[in-house]
Amino acid sequence: MDPAEFRRLGHELVEWIAAYRERLEELPVMSRVEPGEVAAQLPAEPPQQGEGLGDIVADLERVVLPGITHWNHPGWFAYFPSNSDLASVLADLVSSGLGPQGMSWQTSPAATEVEDVVMDWLRQMIGLPESFTGVIHDSASTATFTALLCARERTTGFAQNRRGLQAEESPLVVYASDQAHSSIPKAALLAGFGAEHLRLIATDEEHALRADVLEKAVAEDRAAGRRPCAVVAATGTTATTALDPVARVADVAERHGLWLHVDAALAGTAMICPEYRWMWEGVERADSLVFNPHKWMGPGFDLSAYYVRDAEHLVRVMSTDPSYLRTAQDGLVRNLRDWGIPLGRRFRALKLWFVLREHGVEGLQARIRRDVANAQWLKEQVDTADGWERLAPVPLQTVCLRHAPAALAGDETALDTHNLAIVDAVNRSGQSYLTSAVVKGVRTIRVSIGAETTERRHVEAVWQALREAATAQR
Ligand code: PLP
Repeated sequence: MDPAEFRRLGHELVEWIAAYRERLEELPVMSRVEPGEVAAQLPAEPPQQGEGLGDIVADLERVVLPGITHWNHPGWFAYFPSNSDLASVLADLVSSGLGPQGMSWQTSPAATEVEDVVMDWLRQMIGLPESFTGVIHDSASTATFTALLCARERTTGFAQNRRGLQAEESPLVVYASDQAHSSIPKAALLAGFGAEHLRLIATDEEHALRADVLEKAVAEDRAAGRRPCAVVAATGTTATTALDPVARVADVAERHGLWLHVDAALAGTAMICPEYRWMWEGVERADSLVFNPHKWMGPGFDLSAYYVRDAEHLVRVMSTDPSYLRTAQDGLVRNLRDWGIPLGRRFRALKLWFVLREHGVEGLQARIRRDVANAQWLKEQVDTADGWERLAPVPLQTVCLRHAPAALAGDETALDTHNLAIVDAVNRSGQSYLTSAVVKGVRTIRVSIGAETTERRHVEAVWQALREAATAQR
């Protein structure tokens, strides 16, 4: 494709994306295709001769769009918000258009230096002290994996440079709550700790990690000759946005020399509003922290922010320094290939730069406050509605609820079926999309608010849809 054709088709595609965003509300939030339906519309073999992109817009409409579940839809209440602000869409276009690999400073100085600056802006925005340095990772899963690798190497005094974890005399142990995201057990297993050395600590009635149980588990492991290595505290668990007591977990971590990693994947964005920072009080004592601007803030996936207190340690764990990657500036600059697992890096910082310039800190704060207020409104409706129960505190934007009519009282199986049917009915309507979770044996409908386009009227609509579905099921 030559630049002239790119210009013509590019205008057409930008127009198509803009029109898509304008008509989002008319589309069913959850895709209605059956398994295999999208694939069946594509040829089984690759085109042998180039056919050009002349039909691409028609094919996107016909083949792709029906198979899209619309995460930017105002009726999006499933999983977690994953906003892709239009400023971020443009930044992605620029990133691909320029096409740099930002693995070393020299391979595109701007890719490193824009990232340096915007990650420091972000640090200031969430109130982290200057002692933290940030780097962009693809996902919280990767960042948490990186954190556990760093923890492992700190505890073992760099076993990776000797005979590795396999040669350690006593096993290392990792701790997290029984509500921790699946990425934490996954990281612990991948980092070689072994399932037997992962402790999922009991949580309290608000689903937050119990620091007293953690302390006891660490003491028991020490007494048994095992080496407590790392603890992950969540600010905002996935199912209910529970808040682990970071300061008390930090006390335990400091007493026993554990690495403290804070997983604030969703909730970190809320910390740009100073009034919510009590939720992670003590975070400045963490060794590492991850949060995902690609969830609630606006830069589209993937943009996960990983902050560490000891950057030198991270680089020591991650760097490889083969001769073919060395450059003259190595001692003077950050080479971001040494700050994470992959060598190659896209210019993702542009997404953050564009979104922050477009909205400013105050614009982003206003949106977060709007979403939290909408969640509070829904919480009040649930609390005062007959036959409805709220199943967790609502510190942020997720409301966990269920319909529990008197006729089903005490019958957990029937309640489970009833609430799943409610979710299914709402999702099939196309107007809203919800997901559920089982929290300590109880089926919970999660209303996760935070798409950029979601206003109060959409939250009112999903509440109305829930009540109608509940009535229809009985
Ligand atoms: N941690 C928490 C608390 C999450 O809620 C999630 C995703 O929902 C993750 C980690 C994983 O995020 P990612 O998809 O960026 O790996």
